[in-house]
Amino acid sequence: AGGLTVRGLRKTLGGRDVVAGIDLDVAKGELVSLLGPSGCGKTTTLRMVAGFLPADGGVVTMGDRDVTSAGPERRPSAMVFQNYALWPHMTVTQNVAFPLRTRRVPKRQAADRVRDALELVGLSHHAGSKPTAISGGEQQRVALARAIVQEPDVLLLDEPLSNLDAKLRVSVRDEIRRIQQRLGITTVIVTHDQDEALSISDRIAVMHDGRIEQIATPTELYARPATGFVASFIGSTSVVSGRFLAGTSVSPTAADTVLIRPEQVVLTDDAPVRATVARVLMRGHFAEVVLTTDGAELRAFVTGAPPAVGTETGVRLGAVLVYRDGALLEGTR
Ligand code: ADP
Ligand code: MG
Repeated sequence: AGGLTVRGLRKTLGGRDVVAGIDLDVAKGELVSLLGPSGCGKTTTLRMVAGFLPADGGVVTMGDRDVTSAGPERRPSAMVFQNYALWPHMTVTQNVAFPLRTRRVPKRQAADRVRDALELVGLSHHAGSKPTAISGGEQQRVALARAIVQEPDVLLLDEPLSNLDAKLRVSVRDEIRRIQQRLGITTVIVTHDQDEALSISDRIAVMHDGRIEQIATPTELYARPATGFVASFIGSTSVVSGRFLAGTSVSPTAADTVLIRPEQVVLTDDAPVRATVARVLMRGHFAEVVLTTDGAELRAFVTGAPPAVGTETGVRLGAVLVYRDGALLEGTR
């Protein structure tokens, strides 16, 4: 049992390089999210890792085994599909037992493993139900149990929360993380949702146009996004004009992109840069305040009572992210 290594994974579909050379190392017991916008090649990548789709190039290793040319049932991995793919005519128990039947696991042993898997996901009381008689969140947990019952070294999940409503998404997300940590399974989760990736992952691989732009911990990724794409995909940012940076240690050129996070935009009456409150978006315990200043738009996080729309205020800028030729140059405070 071990980790997952992917080297130079490629796939061309419909004349396009949908996966254009992916390198990925997932340590034993680690959870890595593959995060990116719709259509960037996440599902295609995961299907190649699982063995459902042959790669055009590259190598996949699980533990110490090269599984590149093995079919899905010959790999020590299990995949949870985006649409769950449960059999509607089978009970929950029969669905979870299915992969053990095809692997000819002895009946007694299979029954024990199915019972344990259902208990782990908290569905023992629905063992005899049909998938149509349980909720979406419960169906997702059946799909998870059906993967876990195989005792995989590597667990692969494709957008496991996308069909659930917001509240359920958080509880199933936390449950997936709890089970993954308890069993110590090497896991890759595909998602387009940055909040999901930031809250569940040991590390996040940000994917764009068939390539991984950056792999880092959630904290690192937010604080030091390696490219402008990563910076604008993770968290909220505003584009800042270089002239606001006069007097700081950064001297951007006209070709640079300068971005700033909302928490680095501080509203304070005594600051020389003037701005007008254009919009206030309540986000719960804080507000995201959209300000206009000389035609540019700045976003700020404000806790406590937000200023009224139309108010004029001063703004002080903290650390910025400067991108030259697409790569992070330096920050300043
Ligand atoms: P994601 O999961 O990130 O949304 P996918 O891996 O599903 O993206 O798809 C990546 C791109 O490949 C998309 O533009 C999609 O339209 C294209 N694609 C996927 N499967 C095929 C196929 N069988 N033939 C042609 N293009 C495909
Ligand atoms: Mg997909």
